[in-house]
Amino acid sequence: MSDVTETSDNTVAASNTSATDKPPVLEVVDLKKHFPVKKGIFQTTVGQVFAVDGVSFTINEGETLGLVGESGCGKSTVGRALMRLIEPTSGTIKLDGRDVTNLSKRELRPFRREMQIIFQDPFSSLDPRMTAGKIVGEPLSVHGIGDSRDERREMVAELFERVGLRKGQMDNFPHQFSGGQRQRIGIARALALNPKLIVGDEPVSALDVSIQAQVINLLLDLQAERQLSYLFISHNLAVVEHISHKIAVMYLGRIVEYASKEAIFRSPKHPYTKALLSAVPVPDPTLKRDKLVLQGDVPSPVNPPKGCHFHTRCPFAEDICRKDSPPLREITPGQLAACHFAEA
Ligand code: SF4
Repeated sequence: MSDVTETSDNTVAASNTSATDKPPVLEVVDLKKHFPVKKGIFQTTVGQVFAVDGVSFTINEGETLGLVGESGCGKSTVGRALMRLIEPTSGTIKLDGRDVTNLSKRELRPFRREMQIIFQDPFSSLDPRMTAGKIVGEPLSVHGIGDSRDERREMVAELFERVGLRKGQMDNFPHQFSGGQRQRIGIARALALNPKLIVGDEPVSALDVSIQAQVINLLLDLQAERQLSYLFISHNLAVVEHISHKIAVMYLGRIVEYASKEAIFRSPKHPYTKALLSAVPVPDPTLKRDKLVLQGDVPSPVNPPKGCHFHTRCPFAEDICRKDSPPLREITPGQLAACHFAEA
């Protein structure tokens, strides 16, 4: 597991070694993504959207980090910036200890094999004109893996069976599959290049609860088999609970709490985490949790509130919260929170 230390701003700085002294599979340091706001016929820049504003974390081999927050908090932007689907404004992204932040598209190509993404809506992310077999096999052709079409087809058939589909379904089109099956196609495609890390951007949010559990169990089995690492992005803490080793809670572009899953669920320190947890059913009746209901929506990231970004919705806000931004600091060993009043 990775270790974390506090920094002067709202980032989680992670030590870059695991117990085995291997570098983390993914190390992100002070990642920022700001989008310019343009107006008028001359498209003059009149402001910035601080979508991701200094986010740091590590993910070790075989580990899952759950990245959680409401819609608009910047979590999907983190996933897309990591994959370089959008260019980060600043920060560092290291894959297996190698800095890939500023590589050109061409230089990035070999690294793309190691990091794959699964999207929320399997239907819109799969080309409706391609058969499922072609969709899963496309990355193999693009990267020149397999000596012949037959060999690639055999590899695709194995992937189909591994994710719980039948090889007889390879010639079907996406619309002939259920939502859960389509997400299995997305997973098979992500697995085709034998990646080290998979970013799941709300990968089960569009599925029925019973199907969600099946897909999460599949991801857990694959992780155990292949020592895969996951960044699992979700708006729902109940969903990440089953798959995560650690959890980072994001609010308005920043991480406000970062800890092991157990610490987050047993003893959350940040009021925002407590509010998110209030919406999660408690299976153990002896476990008492403070109820904290969130009022209103996430404020606009164009003009985030001064001081603590959360003060406009926080029932515990005091004067200092409106003036000073609380640093992310260690409250108990390994548990960090960005709140002036968080205590052990
Ligand atoms: Fe609430 Fe203040 Fe803590 Fe922010 S710093 S979470 S406003 S108590």
